[in-house]
Amino acid sequence: MSAERPGPAPENAVRGLAYEEPLSIERSRPGRIGWSLPELDVPAVDPADVWPEGSVRSEPAELPELSEVEVVRHFTRLSTWNAAVDLGLYPLGSCTMKYNPKINERAARLDGFAGCHPMQPPSEAQGFLQLCWELEQMLAEISGMDRVTLQPAAGAQGELAGVMMIRAYHEHRGEKRHKILIPESAHGTNPASAALNGYDVVPVPGGSDGVLHPEAVDALMDETVAGLMLTNPNTLGLFEEHIVAIAEIVHSRGGLIYGDGANLNALLGIARPGDLGIDVMHFNLHKTFSTPHGGGGPGSGPVGVKNILATYLPTPVIQKVEGEEGDCFTLDHEFPHSIGRLHGNLGNLGMAVRAWTYIRSLGREGLRRCSDMAVLNANYLLARLRESYHVPFDRAVMHEVVFSDRNLAETGVTTLDVAKRLIDHGYHPPTIYFPLIVHGALMIEPTESESMEGLDRFVESLEAIAREAKEDPETVKTAPHHTRHTRLDETRAARKPVLRW
Ligand SMILES: *Cc1c(COP(=O)(O)O)cnc(C)c1O
Repeated sequence: MSAERPGPAPENAVRGLAYEEPLSIERSRPGRIGWSLPELDVPAVDPADVWPEGSVRSEPAELPELSEVEVVRHFTRLSTWNAAVDLGLYPLGSCTMKYNPKINERAARLDGFAGCHPMQPPSEAQGFLQLCWELEQMLAEISGMDRVTLQPAAGAQGELAGVMMIRAYHEHRGEKRHKILIPESAHGTNPASAALNGYDVVPVPGGSDGVLHPEAVDALMDETVAGLMLTNPNTLGLFEEHIVAIAEIVHSRGGLIYGDGANLNALLGIARPGDLGIDVMHFNLHKTFSTPHGGGGPGSGPVGVKNILATYLPTPVIQKVEGEEGDCFTLDHEFPHSIGRLHGNLGNLGMAVRAWTYIRSLGREGLRRCSDMAVLNANYLLARLRESYHVPFDRAVMHEVVFSDRNLAETGVTTLDVAKRLIDHGYHPPTIYFPLIVHGALMIEPTESESMEGLDRFVESLEAIAREAKEDPETVKTAPHHTRHTRLDETRAARKPVLRW
């Protein structure tokens, strides 16, 4: 087993500074403090005199007593235990782990946004409402939709909302449709959202070229089908080139098309889902629009609709009222056909500020360039890695590319082993075993954030692992070797999680 760092050393993998970290309570020393406040200049109050009986502790809580620098070091060290986009390439396919520009954070921390209370009356939150309304307009323009709601807290909840609106639309028209068509390559949240809405899920097989064909939809689409949920580009990274014909078939038989917008990073400024026949879609602000995710903050999954569905939007709906003294923004609760409220307030609006900032700082040209670069980077990886790893659908891809472990079959090394060995090279592994239709899938999404040298280093690591699989499979199969823990029993971790120390 090799103790040496394998392959070329990526700049993001530091060894020798892998701190062990005790619990903060273990470092605690009585009387040590991390604050300094001036002397009280008002009379001290005993909480027991002010608060109702039973609401004040008899003994102080056992909290760690630490100095400021100890607290800072503790949390800074812990923060490096997780892989993060700020530490290195994070090629987790479908998740669009792009860099989150720090200007987004600056904007979200402005007092007027960060200090705005969710229950603040609209008259006192006009600036925030204006930002939300403008973000809705920008998302509508980017996607070709007519109206947008920012309420859903993630893509999955956006899907739920979108399918609820599809159901409300059919019910309103007195139609009983109980099925939803979903391609076999879809993300698991698609069938889950359909099933939560009481629909039977009908899988649609893709063609041997990896995309959906009109004939497959034609054979299944009838008046019992409420609609089709489509991801474009699909989870194989391929553009659904028959989407316009497919939309025609679905629409001509009374169905609607839901667009899973998780892969919008391939299309910005190039194609608009609304122009391709999508009636309702979600955006993942935390993917395409660079708001942090994966442990870095709450998500946000706005939903865009065409006018035919606008009457079903969740309430309250932000409205712009034009007046002589300027525009004002109101919260409209009077949507009689609304599917109702999806969020306690208006949504995870800190993400709206970040996404607004991202879109405005890049502008039209910048957004388009994001998608151009994301697509170029994925195709570069495809071109450089197709000798080392099997490519199930070998054609030009969009923003991500799917390989498989078929070339490694005789070595006994699998996709899981490759992913684990990549950790030794300093990379967060790509998405593995998804999409389900590819055996041993290795789904890589480099995003536009990476430099050419960064991509080259990543390619060299994957090539080195493919070579190593042939020469020394045992080392790959027992990876990772340079981590705090090596292979974990993931099944047991999922079934019997230890949630307490
Ligand atoms: C991420 C993703 C979703 C779900 O979005 P969340 O924001 O994680 O809930 C749905 N579909 C696809 C293709 C995705 O990649």
